[in-house]
Amino acid sequence: MLFFLQSRLSSAASFWPRALIANPLKVNMQTKLWTIIACAALPVLNGCGGSSAPPPPAVAFNCAAIKDFSLANLSVIRADRVEANTAKPADPFSGAPVGEYLPAHCVVEGAINARTGKAFSMNPATFTVSQVDASYAIGFELRLPKDWNGRFFFQGGGGLDGLLRQAVGVFDPQQGAAANALARGFAVVSTDAGHRGTSAFDGNFGADAQARIDYAYNAVDQVTLKSKDIVQRYYGKQPDKSYFVGCSNGGRQAMLASQRFASHFDGIVAGDPGFNLMNAVSNTLTDVLAVAAIVPPGATTPLGPDLGKAFSQADRALIGSAIVGRCDVKGRDNLADGIISDPQACDFNPQAHIPTCTGANDGTCLSVGQKGALAAMTSGGKTSQGAPLYSDYFYDAGFGSASWSIWKLDGIPVPLSPALTLSLGLNQIAGMDGPGKVFSTPANPGFSPFAFNPDADPAKFAEFGKLANATSTDLSAYKSRGGKLIMYNGNSDPLFSSKDIVRYHSALSAANGGDASSFARLFLVPGMAHCSGGPATDGFDPLTAIQTWVEQGTAPEVIVAKAGPFTPWPGRTRPLCAHPKVAVYKGTGSVEDASNFSCQ
Ligand code: CA
Repeated sequence: MLFFLQSRLSSAASFWPRALIANPLKVNMQTKLWTIIACAALPVLNGCGGSSAPPPPAVAFNCAAIKDFSLANLSVIRADRVEANTAKPADPFSGAPVGEYLPAHCVVEGAINARTGKAFSMNPATFTVSQVDASYAIGFELRLPKDWNGRFFFQGGGGLDGLLRQAVGVFDPQQGAAANALARGFAVVSTDAGHRGTSAFDGNFGADAQARIDYAYNAVDQVTLKSKDIVQRYYGKQPDKSYFVGCSNGGRQAMLASQRFASHFDGIVAGDPGFNLMNAVSNTLTDVLAVAAIVPPGATTPLGPDLGKAFSQADRALIGSAIVGRCDVKGRDNLADGIISDPQACDFNPQAHIPTCTGANDGTCLSVGQKGALAAMTSGGKTSQGAPLYSDYFYDAGFGSASWSIWKLDGIPVPLSPALTLSLGLNQIAGMDGPGKVFSTPANPGFSPFAFNPDADPAKFAEFGKLANATSTDLSAYKSRGGKLIMYNGNSDPLFSSKDIVRYHSALSAANGGDASSFARLFLVPGMAHCSGGPATDGFDPLTAIQTWVEQGTAPEVIVAKAGPFTPWPGRTRPLCAHPKVAVYKGTGSVEDASNFSCQ
């Protein structure tokens, strides 16, 4: 049955249609054609001589010309003109149009290094997994505005990638695509990271060594190089400044760029980054085990224990309110506002601060087992000998929210059959394909999260970690070229711990004489879950912050953030403070207004 679900999530049927990949003959013809166009349009830059050539294609808004660009190992699949006021950004989850109309631009789809490789595939009758031939390429979408501001924006991916997301330049955790860099005049690129899947949890590409490398780091490098080549040819110049903004796996790609591809970007924003990816993966699997151990008898699904039954809705609300009750006013946090501003001062302990049920669990208490599971998840996964696999977590106000439990417990409906839909946690879903098919060396496509062995399995992730982890504190090349890095993390992120990135920030500081603030700053977001959501002020603009730092030399001390419509206090604003400072109420004025808070 486990394999059946995997097939629903991970069918190999949607790999690159071969018809979309141009053949070598066509590339050769494009090479000749481009030689003619290049010498006509860009005489100086291409060394073709002459000084009275027609204006470059950008002036003519000639998107179709991009189809004839010839770049080694690259096929331009489409290059279409999008007129102003005809298209809106699509919400990445629902696909519905959001926000304002996009400006006039070209939308380019490209494929780098198209090839045939291997993929896992399951026989739906026998549930046997085999390897089949599959088409691969590093796919990207590049949008080039008619009125270009001279800047380049790489929009990071998420999960196991495998989706070609609309390249509009998402940067605001709360606004999503509705606030976008394309509207500000940036040239924006996104990538599928080297494979196509049925979802961002589809790990069938793990059968292919090159596809693993592309996902781990190579797509970020190749897509940056190729899309800058297209920018050069289309606009006649390289970008004045280049930015990378991503969250989750996109945050990992962002940190990886700062460590390994120092020349590609001037400003990088890494949100809730999975930089310590392999250790974090082990931790999500120990979460699954911790919750599975307290599922009530009989509460099972065809996939194992029903994790969603471990805590009732009342239990979840109790956890959130107990944490807030203990830590809302603590340390530097001097205001009872439902926001735990100073998480390092929070001394919440479920054993001491939540009543233990003596009779029925009526929403005012937790069982001993539930308290143990909550404590285990928050102290982080460990081996049987008690050695930490990853990191502990702050106790935070978002623990009571659906944005937290959607990972740890349940919340994602998965149609198992026409008659049966399960509500699964993202930890469980993420644990099905990633660890076995992609992260393990050698691959283990039959892996089940319920069979995770915390003593033996983490070592199997080590080889892939060498490719994918972004834990280096050697940013010397990036720093010396003037690069700036903004990191942010939700304190209620159930996946990537704020404590872990605080630890990284400290190590980065130590590697830079005790202070890395001249080029790298961290902003913790109280209440925010993974990349958005939770009782938080999760609406903010790190793009303007990084641009101001890169282009005007003003380092961000504060990023003002706004609470969204699904919080208890829509419209509330707060300063997000450069770590280790936190927001402190000045004592007078509206508690809904960031201007009445300072960073201390
Ligand atoms: Ca508070």
